Amino acid sequence: MTELTSDSFDRPVRTRFAPSPTGFLHVGAFRTALFSWLVAKKFGGQFILRVEDTDQARVVPGSLESLIRSMQALGIMYDEGPDKSSVAALDVQKYGAVDPSILPDFDGEYGPYFQSQRLTRYSEVLEQLLEEGKAYYAFETQEELDAQRAVAMARKIPFLYNRRYRDFSLGESRDRIARGEPAVIRFKMPVSGPIRTVDALRGETIWDATTMDDFIIQKSDGFPPYHLAAIVDDHDMLISHVLRGEEWIPSFPKHVCLVQALGWEQPIWIHAPSVLGTDKKKLSKRHGAKPLIGPVPELKDGELTGDFLSGLINQEGYLPEALVNFLALIGWSPGDDREVMPLSELLSAFSVEAISTAPGIFDADKLLWMNGVYIRNLSREDFVQRALPFLQNAKLLPDNPNIEEVTYASVALELEQERVKRLDEVSALTDFFFPELPVYSEKSVANWLRKGGMTTAAYLSAVASSLSNIEPWNETVVEQAVRNTGIEFNREKGELTHPVRVAVTGRETGPGLFETIAAMGKKRTLTRLAHAVELARG
Ligand code: GLU
Repeated sequence: MTELTSDSFDRPVRTRFAPSPTGFLHVGAFRTALFSWLVAKKFGGQFILRVEDTDQARVVPGSLESLIRSMQALGIMYDEGPDKSSVAALDVQKYGAVDPSILPDFDGEYGPYFQSQRLTRYSEVLEQLLEEGKAYYAFETQEELDAQRAVAMARKIPFLYNRRYRDFSLGESRDRIARGEPAVIRFKMPVSGPIRTVDALRGETIWDATTMDDFIIQKSDGFPPYHLAAIVDDHDMLISHVLRGEEWIPSFPKHVCLVQALGWEQPIWIHAPSVLGTDKKKLSKRHGAKPLIGPVPELKDGELTGDFLSGLINQEGYLPEALVNFLALIGWSPGDDREVMPLSELLSAFSVEAISTAPGIFDADKLLWMNGVYIRNLSREDFVQRALPFLQNAKLLPDNPNIEEVTYASVALELEQERVKRLDEVSALTDFFFPELPVYSEKSVANWLRKGGMTTAAYLSAVASSLSNIEPWNETVVEQAVRNTGIEFNREKGELTHPVRVAVTGRETGPGLFETIAAMGKKRTLTRLAHAVELARG
């Protein structure tokens, strides 16, 4: 049996993410990219972004920018990959414009990192394989292949290309090509015997060569398919660990044979498990999937607008560190029951061996929970800094707020930090702080301001007058003043606090009443109480 993989070797760690810019990427792709990034960072290696754009007809404008923005938002930027000049050389119509400010100035030593810019290199390798008799031109037309496939189907046997041109002389084939005949190039797979592959998670697998095709390594349009391009690039870019999705397992033996035919060292192959919804089905919009699909991206007129992960972060208010933690646990676990693991902890706990072979589950509820934990763990200042843009988006704060506006918003935000699970919730939670008067619902007015008739009006007015005299204005003193007034009016518990809450916030629930009043300040509080007294009088 041929030894087709080496299980261990000693090379600098270099991993890659190799997406195709053909649409927006599934969250599973980012999970796999994160695993690759973790392997590189854990071992002090490099993480490479290679854009697999050989299928030019499928390139979707905007998807390249979306991809890079998502990586950036998640904090898994590449050490080598597309830079300003390689991106500037792309066809803008096809790829869409990419904001140069998100691109590095230098791409790296092993570029270009766009497969469409590496065609000469693939031709070189194809030529080598042809010359060494390891590949051959095949001249079947699509119709001929379809007819062969139909015969196989009728006989209910799997279709395997019949290898008609495998032993044709190369010289003769070249003559036919020179006469303009269209051809593909196929790779000579072993015709019989076992093929051995080794995956770092699954160990050894023995495949039967008689079930394998001589697959195409150059299509009739002159472009190489994934099978050739990825193998050449992984070698040339010195990739030590090829970490990719498990959908590539069926073609794994092809890749192993190709690497061997080229006389190259096998990388460490790792096939990461797929990502499923909580119902164990393929992820789709069905899975509550706002977080999966995000607020963006959208295909508008065939162009991808916005991007997925940065949409989750900048519009929905997931923290990048929470997303990283959450994604890392889809198909990997530290081997104990730890779940909340900041990056430094993830990096020290992460190991390739502990990646699971069973599908990982994307549980949107768990993401929300974890995000809440991360939000609660932020320092107050950090929380406020991250939450302020959400108040600006909601127009509760102007785009260029002055110091007083920021201070006031910060105090309001701090009161809500414990409760927030997504930063975009802060606008709904704090909106009553900002206008001169809050919105009073009819129901709250009826339940808490008008109930009790004139005594409630009198009570609120007494609360206002005792608050107008207090010094200093802080939570404790506010509480004393309100409680003393409540006792004078023989009010207890909810009867004491609720009307005051509704009067100053328009709401029946919220953060602690006295801290809210303290945060709101004397002037606003008194204005609102005066208005509520009017409402209570009916
Ligand atoms: N371009 C391939 C894809 O998007 C890459 C697979 C790989 O990581 O090798 O599925």
